[in-house]
Amino acid sequence: MATIIDGKAIAAQIRQNIKEETAQLIASTGYTPALAVILVGDDPASAVYVRNKQRACEEVGFRALEYRLPAATTQQELDALIDTLNADGAVDGILVQLPLPRGLDEQRVLLRISPEKDVDCFHPYNVGRVMCGDGVLAPCTPMGVMELIHSTGVSVSGKECVVVGRSNIVGKPQSMLLLRENGTVTVCHSKTADLAEVTRRADILVAAVGRAGLITGDMIKPGAVVIDVGINRGADGKLTGDVDFASAKEVAGYITPVPGGVGPMTIAMLMQNTLRAAQARMAEGKGE
Ligand code: NDP
Repeated sequence: MATIIDGKAIAAQIRQNIKEETAQLIASTGYTPALAVILVGDDPASAVYVRNKQRACEEVGFRALEYRLPAATTQQELDALIDTLNADGAVDGILVQLPLPRGLDEQRVLLRISPEKDVDCFHPYNVGRVMCGDGVLAPCTPMGVMELIHSTGVSVSGKECVVVGRSNIVGKPQSMLLLRENGTVTVCHSKTADLAEVTRRADILVAAVGRAGLITGDMIKPGAVVIDVGINRGADGKLTGDVDFASAKEVAGYITPVPGGVGPMTIAMLMQNTLRAAQARMAEGKGE
């Protein structure tokens, strides 16, 4: 029977550490880190995500700046707001909540955010730094997954690591972070011929697909660390992961629940990136 990894508690501890570090920064420099969150349109799920991010900012002692723009906002208007925030010395992080309403170009937006303020770590410059293993900013969800793996005490080095999913925001950067810690990494996707054959080799298995219950207990190596990134909403409104929790927990050594696993870590890592961005900018004399 697997040990359940409590992402909620681990994320709360990380936020507490950030709060203490932030208080020290403010006491020593008088500067308060600030995160600007832009929400375009009125998608209810996005509004909830934005509210949670604002709350987390307030909890750790950051200034939370919120920009709510109507769905009819033009690309030029959005570009202009990003340019203003890029130039604002008192803003450390800029986050544009995705998805954007139709007619707005997400790629263009991600490229427009200054890499030093790209706290989601989506800009190709920062993605490249992750590949090189030397960036200030880390991709939030994959970094949260690494923290959860670290919490088990299982070392990644030399282990068979399997990532299911190859998206730019989760699967690909996840594989890079595992590689950085000397894991032997295999990435699976929709064209993988025999998924179960690969996942059964994994000492560390990360599922980031978006298909409820895709990974069943018989696809898991006994004792493996299983991290479930997936968020799937069932017809009953309940959230489930990509891993069939009931069968997987009988086989795995460690497993994350959904909800309460990776989800809380993503926001905690966003706070960490904002603090790191502020510290890096201050070190360069840029914080106002
Ligand atoms: P994407 O849809 O961008 O990517 C899904 C990936 O899964 C693709 O690479 C796809 O392969 C692969 N895939 C699809 N079907 C299969 C299959 N049958 N077997 C193997 N691989 C398959 O999703 P994201 O990476 O953005 O998100 C993945 C999940 O994680 C979602 O449920 C999302 O909601 C959740 N998520 C959770 C976060 C959190 O904070 N907890 C944060 C971000 C995401 P191919 O490339 O071939 O199409």
